[in-house]
Amino acid sequence: MSTEFAVVRSGRPVGAEERAAILAAPGFGQYFTDHMASATWTVDGGWAGHRVGPLEPFQLHPSAAVLHYAQEIFEGLKAYRHGDGSVWLFRPEANARRFAQSARRLDLPVLPEEDFIASCATLVEVDEPWVPVPAGEESLYLRPFMFASEAFLGVRSAARVEYAVIASPAGPYFESGVTGVTLWVSSTYARASEGGTGAAKCGGNYAGSLAAQREAAEHGCDQVLYLDSAGKGNLEESGTMNLLLITSDGHLVTPELGTILAGVTRDTLLTLADQHGLTPIERSVNIDELRTGVADGTFVEAFAAGTAAVVTPITGFKGEARQGDTGHAGDTGHAGHAGDSARYYELTVGDGTPGRKTVELREHVLDIQYGRTEDPHGWLHRVC
Ligand SMILES: *Cc1c(COP(=O)(O)O)cnc(C)c1O
Repeated sequence: MSTEFAVVRSGRPVGAEERAAILAAPGFGQYFTDHMASATWTVDGGWAGHRVGPLEPFQLHPSAAVLHYAQEIFEGLKAYRHGDGSVWLFRPEANARRFAQSARRLDLPVLPEEDFIASCATLVEVDEPWVPVPAGEESLYLRPFMFASEAFLGVRSAARVEYAVIASPAGPYFESGVTGVTLWVSSTYARASEGGTGAAKCGGNYAGSLAAQREAAEHGCDQVLYLDSAGKGNLEESGTMNLLLITSDGHLVTPELGTILAGVTRDTLLTLADQHGLTPIERSVNIDELRTGVADGTFVEAFAAGTAAVVTPITGFKGEARQGDTGHAGDTGHAGHAGDSARYYELTVGDGTPGRKTVELREHVLDIQYGRTEDPHGWLHRVC
């Protein structure tokens, strides 16, 4: 049995007209609903104060531990409105389980998984008018998070912790149709190391990723792709999304878990693979194998997977050539500055447009989420 999140309705909700204007073009993460779920944990009292109340700022002492030592974790999942008006969460128990795992790694208190689901479901129920009627891929994005709020500058696990869920309407990720992204293979930055926090969904991982993302942009790429930190050259993930590759002989290949984030979307796609004639394989893939394989047509499609965009086709990779690296057969030379082609390699996946299976898989996940096809795995959880 989950603890009930008692509802205290906002006395000043956004008006229906203003809400309709927001829902007509919500973007991502810019607008928030009228309410938030919350609960507080103390070392003496455990979890208490479960409620869904008006969205409001936190009051934090400047010494609050999270502001100094980043003891913080979060989750991301969505509520989808189906054709009959009903509203559903997608695999919330997977997010609840991962949130508990992240909590253990950051030495935060574990929120019972049923309370995690109850907090999300109650918030969505109360803010139901904020769940968009999908014209395309609109949804209500939920952001559960937990942080150390104790006022204390010592380095130890906090004796007071806040848990909350906020909700933000989200428009289609790709405003003008699904196009591909290019990934910068960073040889400067790593995301995670063995024994580190790579498998936890914690804010600290993201703080460290911003400089790498800037490096990617400086090289004309949309996102960064990390290699392992031990220098083996194994592909990890893109920092907000997992990486998947499709081979010409029908394998859906993705790096094995360990230092990467165990994405719900990644797992969903591996489960659906055989319905698309693909064999799911979790194994390490080296950057040299990627370069050779993309060039010789072994890897025919590539994409990134995460809740926000579901599946993002990858149409190219770029990275720094190593010393003595003469390039791999088929690497496309760089048309930019003189000497660039020696310094960088560039790969075009397939014909440089989103792959056919990639788009097929993307549609399949969306069809389940929006209730347009069967859900044999019982992934949908009805809220209202
Ligand atoms: C959240 C996240 C993902 C994607 O996970 P989903 O559960 O599919 O949304 C991938 N990588 C990182 C680092 C993440 O934080």
